[in-house]
Amino acid sequence: MSGPGEQEVIVVIDDDAAMRLSCRKILAKLGHRVETFEDGTQGLEGVSRLRPGLVVVDLKMPGLSGLEVVARVRELDPLVVVVVITGYATIDTAVEAMKAGAYDFLPKPFSPEELRLIVNRSLERRRLSLEARRAEMDRELLRRRFVTFVSHQLQTPLAAVHQYLSVLQQFEETGAVEGKRREWIERCLRRAEEMQTLIRDWLTLARLESDRLARERAPVDLGQIIPNILATYEPLAAEERVTLEARLPETGCTVAGDPNCLNVLFDNLITNAIKYNRPEGRISVTAGCQGEEVEVAVADTGVGIPPQCRERLFDEFFRVRGEGAKKTPGTGLGLAICKRIVTELGGSITVESEPGAGSTFRVRLPAWRAAAAREDRTESTP
Ligand code: ADP
Repeated sequence: MSGPGEQEVIVVIDDDAAMRLSCRKILAKLGHRVETFEDGTQGLEGVSRLRPGLVVVDLKMPGLSGLEVVARVRELDPLVVVVVITGYATIDTAVEAMKAGAYDFLPKPFSPEELRLIVNRSLERRRLSLEARRAEMDRELLRRRFVTFVSHQLQTPLAAVHQYLSVLQQFEETGAVEGKRREWIERCLRRAEEMQTLIRDWLTLARLESDRLARERAPVDLGQIIPNILATYEPLAAEERVTLEARLPETGCTVAGDPNCLNVLFDNLITNAIKYNRPEGRISVTAGCQGEEVEVAVADTGVGIPPQCRERLFDEFFRVRGEGAKKTPGTGLGLAICKRIVTELGGSITVESEPGAGSTFRVRLPAWRAAAAREDRTESTP
């Protein structure tokens, strides 16, 4: 496999010796390795041995027909790009060849420049298909790792719950359960809650992946949804002895998005600001419109994030190791969800932090008017 400008192996199959020679000369000048064959059978053997990126094949040859060669080459390697050479009289056959999987055709006679153009275009097409296949393989690998990881994350708490319940059952039978029962039930409940959170976050990510959540665009006033979220966290903040403050303008904070998504986004940032804060700490949420963007900053006075962790902070399952992670339950999916939502909505999320002093997460989203105008422009573009 090769990138743009790299050497490719090109196989030319043509019964005309002069044609083979001129193709070899022209294509070798482009820096590619060219191998030529005088009939379909030898050509196919060459293709399976050399694994070329591009095959140029004459349609009208004695023996195995060009059409058959095209179909067999594509069977051997579906990602190989095939160009057929054809006389004007066989243009209908060229169309047949395209149906059989050829990418393009070159009518005879052609100039060196025409051959170079079509070869470069074909190799670009191959590069794009290889890239798409690599991206699909990466996605598949990630999906598989994701499933393995989530199953593993569920297995540990589930095993603990199972253990507590079996001991409780045994003690119930022997009557020696008093004293421990309440503690174990509480542990079981905590573990069950952890599993519920993991499944909830997992489902949110899956829904975001299937595109449904973030595609709905409507005007959403952050000046309304953020105070509502803060109000729901007042009891938790009080329990953690953390003060919540908000400075949001009454107008000018309307963005284009889906209200559920935006709720999930700010809910995650605000819960983190509480979870990773310190007793008597503060959280302040500020917002403002800057040009065509609305910026929201969620700042806390908590444990902060070490500089070496910031690059991976928005990766799935990433958690800063150490005391904080042990004390505070979490899935490591919250910020990955935030990042996905913000990206879908055409915005950005960044973090500034000082370990031991606090962190500020800054979200920038297109303001409703700017986003609506952009969409209008896209729609009117032919
Ligand atoms: P979770 O909180 O479930 O672990 P997140 O994806 O929301 O997952 O966060 C990933 C990690 O980033 C957390 O485990 C924590 O280490 C760190 N983090 C997130 N928000 C903050 C914050 N406001 N202050 C300090 N650390 C934070």
